[in-house]
Amino acid sequence: MCIFCEIVAGNIPSKKVYEDDVAYAFLDINPFHAGHTLVIPKRHVDRLTDDPTALGEIAPAVTAVAALLQEKLGAEGLNLLINSGAVAGQEVFHLHVHLIPRYADNPGMSGLAKRDPDIDLDGVYQRLSA
Ligand code: AMP
Ligand code: ZN
Repeated sequence: MCIFCEIVAGNIPSKKVYEDDVAYAFLDINPFHAGHTLVIPKRHVDRLTDDPTALGEIAPAVTAVAALLQEKLGAEGLNLLINSGAVAGQEVFHLHVHLIPRYADNPGMSGLAKRDPDIDLDGVYQRLSA
């Protein structure tokens, strides 16, 4: 099983923020911004182009998580990102959408993709779960 299939199965712990019949969403362990979430299909799909229906299946979950991040964390906007293929930066070969909340103190594309080791994952998770 791949690492994200292990997460869906509960064999590897994750900070789950949302789940439906076909999708699972959890906090990225190494976030760009507070609340950086990965939304994945529960079934294994290697990459975007391997299955024409997978992205549509998880679209309702992506929208639901976006609303949750705005409501609970006060995100004023979000970036959606899919890395498809190693050359694009895909490291885990189980399709996932990065949902990256954005805040007024660090706006714009130039502030999108720098990991922030100072983010308090447990604190973010508590705010999302409340
Ligand atoms: P990508 O480079 O698009 O394949 O993104 C993979 C993402 O998965 C990275 O942002 C990692 O920080 C994240 N990641 C890897 N392992 C875990 C894990 N066990 N729990 C949460 N996020 C993870
Ligand atoms: Zn998998």
